[in-house]
Amino acid sequence: MSVVAIARVLLPAGLEPIRDLAKIRIGGVDATPDRVREITAGAEALVADPTVGVDAELLDAAGPGLRLVANFAVGYDNVDLEECRRRGIVVTNTPDVLTNATAELALTLTLAAARFLSEGERDLRAGRWQGLEPGAYRGLELSGATVGVVGLGRIGGRYAELLAGFGVELLYAARSPKPEAEARLAASRVELEELLRRSDVVSLHAPASPETHHLIDAEALRLMEEQAVLVNTARGSLVDLAAVAAALREGRLGAVGLDVYEDEPRIPAEILEAPHAVLAPHIGSATIKARDAMARMVTDSVIAVLDGCEPPNRVV
Ligand code: NAP
Repeated sequence: MSVVAIARVLLPAGLEPIRDLAKIRIGGVDATPDRVREITAGAEALVADPTVGVDAELLDAAGPGLRLVANFAVGYDNVDLEECRRRGIVVTNTPDVLTNATAELALTLTLAAARFLSEGERDLRAGRWQGLEPGAYRGLELSGATVGVVGLGRIGGRYAELLAGFGVELLYAARSPKPEAEARLAASRVELEELLRRSDVVSLHAPASPETHHLIDAEALRLMEEQAVLVNTARGSLVDLAAVAAALREGRLGAVGLDVYEDEPRIPAEILEAPHAVLAPHIGSATIKARDAMARMVTDSVIAVLDGCEPPNRVV
């Protein structure tokens, strides 16, 4: 019987269909790299997620029988694609089914950060709120604001669609033009620098790559408006958190809404202590509908590869 290694956990929606088809080894939600290597040894398929680094060392530990890495995410920056390609290992991801969930979280963070929601709630719970005060908690009004979307792909495009009801001006930055999305969303493509200068809200939706590493750094932050809101639901590596914390502290940035961090789950103290920061624990795709669909999609890849068929959503 084929061995399928699940590096951490797989939801029942994904587990049930393969329970009788393969021998399943499960690392557990707090699996260490050693534990993941141990359960992957001799496996034909490995189910990973963004917290699991799939590198040469893990692939060596798996041995020559490994045929598939099925990543429980649309992003695959945790997987060494070149190494998988070189070894003839198929890599799959879970696009589309998490688009709505992640775009909705980006909108949630946009509104929450723009209106200092976390700060207000913390004050209220701590007994610091003294009642309505005209000058307190005055944030950015989204209606009529200029919103810059960095990466107008599936999630960035859906986020832009959701914003339509607010009557915003939409700008976007991308490596290639998106004429269909431009027409549909009335969005204008500009260079990143212009987007940063003109936007009241900047929302990041580009993948992690060497090109997007610290796309938002001290220099980028200097271009942004003092009242601007920065939202990141893409990947932590896109943002230099130390620079963001300094800009918030010094009043050079209005607010941030973050779902992802460079060294998850560790969050630098300076960002925890920074004012005007709404911080979510990487829950972009965390709806029941999206996560169940992702689990099922991962399993569809496993079943296809074990059957010797072409899997859906192949990246490599
Ligand atoms: P997608 O459809 O591939 O969209 C990504 C877009 O980014 C593409 O349109 C791409 O177009 C653009 N892009 C690439 N490099 C860029 C750059 N240097 N500057 C500006 N734009 C760039 O992917 P998606 O499904 O929307 O997912 C986007 C990302 O969201 C994923 O990679 C993942 O990391 C993240 N994500 C996070 C969560 C979460 O839980 N927080 C959940 C799902 C996804 P061009 O190449 O033409 O520029």
